Amino acid sequence: MDEVIARLERLVGGQRLRSGEALHPYTHDESDVGPRQPLVAVEARSAEEVEAIVRLARETKTPVVPRGAGTGKSGGALAERGGIVLSTAGMTAIREIDRRDLVAVVEPGVVTKTLQDAVEAQNLFYPPDPSSLDTSTLGGNAAHDAGGPRALKYGVTRDYVLATETVLGTGERVRTGHRSIKGVAGYDLTALLVGSEGTLGIFTELSLQLLPKPERVETALLVYGGDEGEEQAIRSVDALFGSGLLPRTCELLDRPAMQAVRSRAPFAFPPDVAAALIVEVDGNEDGCARDLRTLEAVCTRAGAAEVLLAQTPGQRAKVWETRRLVSPSLRALRPFKMSEDVAVPRGRMLELVRAVRRLGQSLGLETAVYGHAGDGNLHVNLLFASRDDGAKVEAALAGVVAAAVQLGGTITGEHGVGLAKKRFLSLEQSPALVAAQRRIKAALDPDGILNPGKIFPDES
Ligand SMILES: Cc1cc2nc3c(=O)[nH]c(=O)nc-3n(C[C@H](O)[C@H](O)[C@H](O)COP(=O)(O)OP(=O)(O)OC[C@H]3O[C@@H](n4cnc5c(N)ncnc54)[C@H](O)[C@@H]3O)c2cc1C
Repeated sequence: MDEVIARLERLVGGQRLRSGEALHPYTHDESDVGPRQPLVAVEARSAEEVEAIVRLARETKTPVVPRGAGTGKSGGALAERGGIVLSTAGMTAIREIDRRDLVAVVEPGVVTKTLQDAVEAQNLFYPPDPSSLDTSTLGGNAAHDAGGPRALKYGVTRDYVLATETVLGTGERVRTGHRSIKGVAGYDLTALLVGSEGTLGIFTELSLQLLPKPERVETALLVYGGDEGEEQAIRSVDALFGSGLLPRTCELLDRPAMQAVRSRAPFAFPPDVAAALIVEVDGNEDGCARDLRTLEAVCTRAGAAEVLLAQTPGQRAKVWETRRLVSPSLRALRPFKMSEDVAVPRGRMLELVRAVRRLGQSLGLETAVYGHAGDGNLHVNLLFASRDDGAKVEAALAGVVAAAVQLGGTITGEHGVGLAKKRFLSLEQSPALVAAQRRIKAALDPDGILNPGKIFPDES
């Protein structure tokens, strides 16, 4: 192992190596998994360095774990089997923003918001908007196929990655995909690599599709009250889509979420507030006005007590601040909060919420459900009196993911499997499907050095 560190030092110099106590930031991410201790962490600055490090790792059979900003919520960037944490967070160049092709070419360490600001300054638009966008990197977004509120209308990261430069587990640096919008030559390895959680390759460059920036965005906050309010809010989502409207975001905050956030929010919600929806539409002035009329009519019919339209950028920010305050407000209620990002088909959301309530009652836990209702990706929160109640935490987690899968959904809508969910993968995927993925992994990473121990259940 000393040999690995000595060779890494020769490759990149001592300044960009971390060992001993300096490894602390690399031992955890934003999940409840961890800590995991790597042997060494190295900050790469170029594709050539990434390639050389992966070749070294292969030669020495050392695990190598790619890492961006470490905001992941699945333990994906943790060194489960020790070895080298390879950070691409220092590769921060925006190489190109091409207005004619509507393409941005970036290094993987560019922070999502940095790219968004850079393209918006040119009246262009990069839609994927994970809530971590102020800190997460585009490499991490691509590896976890990150989504966000706008995924409802615009899709997730995968829908915007046209091409990659990637160092495979073989140590080969390859270019996948194409700069053109169309292109069907060979297998779609770009789509395979996106979402592969750093287990098949390490991105060293991404070519991302851009869109023209929408002329106008309108934000509405719909408030529901009374005993029926929560169900009315969820039924409003069905009614919205039934009316032909495709908003760009549609976020749900259930009764416990609203009650938790009520005293902190920048609005005076009524004491019996039961739920809220945050709906945004975009387009031109006439289209937005028409969509807002439809939204108001449909949701009022479905039971909304109040429809507030943000009149200024400040009011719009306050609406979203309410959404952002939900997680810390719930966290303040109990010492430990478990948050799961399951997804179900949109039409089955009410059943999921009911299943979560039953589970909460049976385990004696408070629950809250909020998040991306427009695409059925809900953050299910279970609140615990103590972090140490391991059996209850496990039963709650297993109950939530099983309910989502039974409803035709998935164990993870956007946070990835990583370490946190791998024991549940078999609920969703057959042994044959898991075996096929293991064969793909073996083809691209024959020595199993890339981010080992992730996604798939341990073979033993
Ligand atoms: C407050 C908060 C809000 C969040 N909101 C959302 C949300 O709305 N939507 C959402 O999808 N996620 C969300 N997340 C989760 C997280 O931010 C995303 O998964 C994000 O994409 C991770 O990016 P990162 O740069 O932090 O990657 P890391 O956490 O460092 O790594 C994540 C994964 O990517 C791999 N990886 C990193 N860089 C590379 C690379 N160059 N090549 C190959 N693999 C690589 C790692 O091995 C790991 O498996 C949130 C997290 C937090 C803390």
